Amino acid sequence: MSATESQRELRFVVMGAGMAGILAAIKLREAGHGEVAVYEKADRIGGTWRENTYPGLTCDVPSHSYTYSFEPNPDWSRYLPPGAEIQDYFERTTRKYGIDKLIRFNEEIISCEYRNGRWQIETKSGLRDEADVVIAATGVLHVPRYPDIDGIEDFEGAIFHTSRWDHSVPLDDRRIGVIGTGSTGVQIVSALSKRVKKLVHFQRTPQWIMPVENPEFSEEQKAAFRNDPELLKYMQNEPEYLANVERFTNAIVEPESPAMEEIETIVRDYLENSIRDPELREKLRPSYRAACKRLIYSPDFYEAVQRPSVEVELGAIERIEAKGVRLKDGTLHELDVIALATGFKADQFMRPMNVVGRNGVELNEVWADTPRAYLSISIPEFPNLFMLNGPNGPVGNFSLIDIAEHQWHYIEQLIAKLESGECAEVCATQSALDAFDKARLEAAKKTIFGSGCQSWYLDANGVPATWPWTQKKFYEAMAEPDFSAFELVSLEEENAGA
Ligand code: NAP
Repeated sequence: MSATESQRELRFVVMGAGMAGILAAIKLREAGHGEVAVYEKADRIGGTWRENTYPGLTCDVPSHSYTYSFEPNPDWSRYLPPGAEIQDYFERTTRKYGIDKLIRFNEEIISCEYRNGRWQIETKSGLRDEADVVIAATGVLHVPRYPDIDGIEDFEGAIFHTSRWDHSVPLDDRRIGVIGTGSTGVQIVSALSKRVKKLVHFQRTPQWIMPVENPEFSEEQKAAFRNDPELLKYMQNEPEYLANVERFTNAIVEPESPAMEEIETIVRDYLENSIRDPELREKLRPSYRAACKRLIYSPDFYEAVQRPSVEVELGAIERIEAKGVRLKDGTLHELDVIALATGFKADQFMRPMNVVGRNGVELNEVWADTPRAYLSISIPEFPNLFMLNGPNGPVGNFSLIDIAEHQWHYIEQLIAKLESGECAEVCATQSALDAFDKARLEAAKKTIFGSGCQSWYLDANGVPATWPWTQKKFYEAMAEPDFSAFELVSLEEENAGA
């Protein structure tokens, strides 16, 4: 709906110029909203794809599915997109839709307070702004989690978190330690195994690996994608891939299903058939169920760990010291570089920003136990603030762009209520959130993510914080808001309360 004269002119602030913030800005402009400002803490767009530049960075979702539905890209070089190409795609898209002009770079929002019916924004540099509606698109994995290992500061070589990769540090023919076996650690080990003199992969917990091929697209294929919009659309919605995602998301919800058994068989066979040395094979065999942690898709990790330059170390780390990593059994691995592939604090979302809702309610207090949001989009007492990829949303081995687009479709319908003047404030009711959360927690415990492993999917209480139902149920939930779950405050009521 475009803003016409009979409608209220709204001012929007979008937090973050990553994948979701750019999406929101494009959609707001497309809907005719003239007052849109995007605040970005860094000097470039891109979010996770800007921050992560480690060797081997790839998205394990097929390239053509990892695009905005309205902006296909015929030029992906491979089946799985390299990180730098994704960053380039977002930069091009931002320019093409004129969003770059709306972004205030190097402006980190430190405070966002709801006062007198508007959100008051303040950035670290002291800039102030106001908005009727705030779209929080701050991402999930943006605060690095440094390991609690003694002696990190004593190391004489280079040491950094993988999302803060120091490209000035040479890697070729050197001795590298990689701590961590998530998707990040696995991609780095695969990429560096051929380049280094020695690579020690410290695996506190081994991972199940799902095989995947990653062929290049030929020039002929790319030309065909360029010349045939229907073919490109087909690639974005490739039936086989979509069916796999559906099977996979159904299996997550039903750990005893044949679909989950199939996943377990594939990863077990891959381990059995790929790792030649029985001792190494047992080292790499996880003791928990496949897909309990986020499944790792890799075309070459098992090949990489069998290279003579690579050593898989399962021994517990005692400390880091000047020359390298000391294990509890006394072994010292001497190293030149240590990459901390130890993941992210996944429960931060907008924080450390100080977000204060209606009546002085502080987000830090509301989320003191664990972050919660109605359908992952709205928080009671935080009117006209909507989240993309907020807490308890779907996460897994599929495109978060698709998730954000569905969430946007839902948010748009809430915005329409404000725009039409039907109400001045909209946010979920406490009872709607409580009922949603009760059902969510109940379901979450039964998912494969809750089957007995440690992962960033778990909240502070050890319960999966993710969407615990099928993908189909998510799409259904995002189709249309149930307005009885929302408190709609009229302009008169708002003025009376102010
Ligand atoms: P992660 O999955 O959270 O893995 C962190 C790793 O560090 C785990 O192996 C963990 O071991 C280990 N670790 C943490 N603290 C440690 C300590 N004190 N000592 C030793 N080991 C320690 O982090 P990530 O690999 O950065 O991945 C995070 C998420 O980013 C992924 O799950 C995915 O959603 C996203 N990602 C996606 C892609 C993609 O291709 N789409 C690529 C990279 C990342 P434990 O298992 O024992 O805790």
